[in-house]
Amino acid sequence: ETIGENLDRTVLAFPDRDALVDRATGRRWSYAAFAADVDALALGLLGLGIAKGDRVGIWAPNRAEWTLTQYATAKIGAVLVNVNPAYRVHELEYVLNQSGIRLLVAAEKFKTSDYAGMIDDVRPRCPALERVVLLDGPDWDSLLEEGRRADPAALAERGATLSPDDPINIQYTSGTTGFPKGATLSHHNILNNGYFVGELCHYTERDRVCIPVPFYHCFGMVMGNLACTSHGAAMVIPGPAFDPGATLAAVAEESCTSLYGVPTMFIAELAHPDFDSYDLSSLRTGIMAGSPCPAEVMKQVIGRMGMAEVSICYGMTETSPVSTQTRADDPVERRVSTVGRVGPHLEVKVVDPRTGLTVPRGEPGELCTRGYSVMLGYWEEPEKTAEAIDAARWMHTGDLAVMDDEGYVSITGRIKDMVIRGGENVYPREIEEFLHTHPDILDVQVIGVPDPKYGEELMAWVRMRDGAEPLTAEALREFCDGRLAHFKIPRYVHVVDAFPMTVTGKVRKVEMREMAARMLN
Ligand code: ATP
Ligand code: MG
Repeated sequence: ETIGENLDRTVLAFPDRDALVDRATGRRWSYAAFAADVDALALGLLGLGIAKGDRVGIWAPNRAEWTLTQYATAKIGAVLVNVNPAYRVHELEYVLNQSGIRLLVAAEKFKTSDYAGMIDDVRPRCPALERVVLLDGPDWDSLLEEGRRADPAALAERGATLSPDDPINIQYTSGTTGFPKGATLSHHNILNNGYFVGELCHYTERDRVCIPVPFYHCFGMVMGNLACTSHGAAMVIPGPAFDPGATLAAVAEESCTSLYGVPTMFIAELAHPDFDSYDLSSLRTGIMAGSPCPAEVMKQVIGRMGMAEVSICYGMTETSPVSTQTRADDPVERRVSTVGRVGPHLEVKVVDPRTGLTVPRGEPGELCTRGYSVMLGYWEEPEKTAEAIDAARWMHTGDLAVMDDEGYVSITGRIKDMVIRGGENVYPREIEEFLHTHPDILDVQVIGVPDPKYGEELMAWVRMRDGAEPLTAEALREFCDGRLAHFKIPRYVHVVDAFPMTVTGKVRKVEMREMAARMLN
């Protein structure tokens, strides 16, 4: 089944249920109205001569038109290229040329981003780019108008030429560890992944899912949008950029049953001064994912937000994204402290990165994933694809994990973030988990910094709770003494208001390490 066929099936089953709510504009679409606009846009794009396999970029923060473009491009077999809303000219030019975008749908501007101006700037250097459709001018409306007037037979004809294994989406990875790579994904990859995420969350047409995570990333467009449309659930967009108050208000006013976020988003919501004034009683479930999910935060999400069935998902862009997920009926300790077990129709294994052999249960190694979710490859980067996916089709994730006897996986960190201090392997994740139990610490990240004696030393970056005294290295040592092995106790403490982040809300440890090295010099 293609994404378009799957959507058509949902529309037939639930034409009158809400499909999409955009809180910024107050607009809402039933599934019937959503399908009508998707088809009009798809016909409009056909009218512009967009062929199967042509790349169509979308450059905008979360808004309804993003979602409409996602489904319209899928219907005509164009390859949607998600362009990061935080990009500036340099990165925009790279992505336009790297993926060969023919048509770019873009917001005119947002906050400090003058998208239209940046497009004008790079256009002379992007020969493949033939057309730009701005969302906030007349372009968008006239494209839909053209589509409404067109003969719908053209859409059926195009639909008949599509196959579930065609590439449908290029998603650049978050760039947490370096320059983003364009993961190329098929209908089969992402539709199945969204569907199974929705299955494990027990979604039905009665669910309403609040999606503050970016659409440009698979968390929003697959675990959010595709999980909803494959089950007839409603997609609720709380706003164009993450705002904790707006997210809580969206849950309360739209009676959302499910809420998504990376850990930092949940931390911000739980710490919101008006937290108690929002009625969150409609919440049943939700997903925390994207970076290490502290058990403390999970417990609060269950206890204070009432998300009794909340899941942790683990995955990466290259695997559509989800590989493992906790289930509502898993034992609660496993639900807060592991990333769950392998998803339906997938395989995971933990290997010794040097030998490639599977390690015994309980021992750390590199996590590998195989199955329907593994990307087609990195767009026009065959060498990088060959480094990531081996001959037996295992995706090597670059993440360190431990699998227990019952198959529950714990992520201990990224291979690149592991610290080797005086010959001991130290996993910053373990120390972060422990420091989260400190009453004055709101959030914490641990990194390795160069050290002449031990090779590397540990540094903790901490965000203090409101009103708490800044933590000193001595106070931290006292807190850890007797409870953490001496070689795991951070030598340095750096108190900050915020961590350097990617737009997907991930902490950029690469940047922290560079900043720390400069600080220590
Ligand atoms: P890049 O590959 O460009 O450096 P990235 O790996 O952050 O960036 P994504 O594909 O968005 O890009 O993120 C996938 C990574 O996020 C995983 O490889 C893993 O390190 C981390 N991750 C995702 N979910 C979890 C989770 N539940 N627990 C711990 N880590 C997670
Ligand atoms: Mg990655």
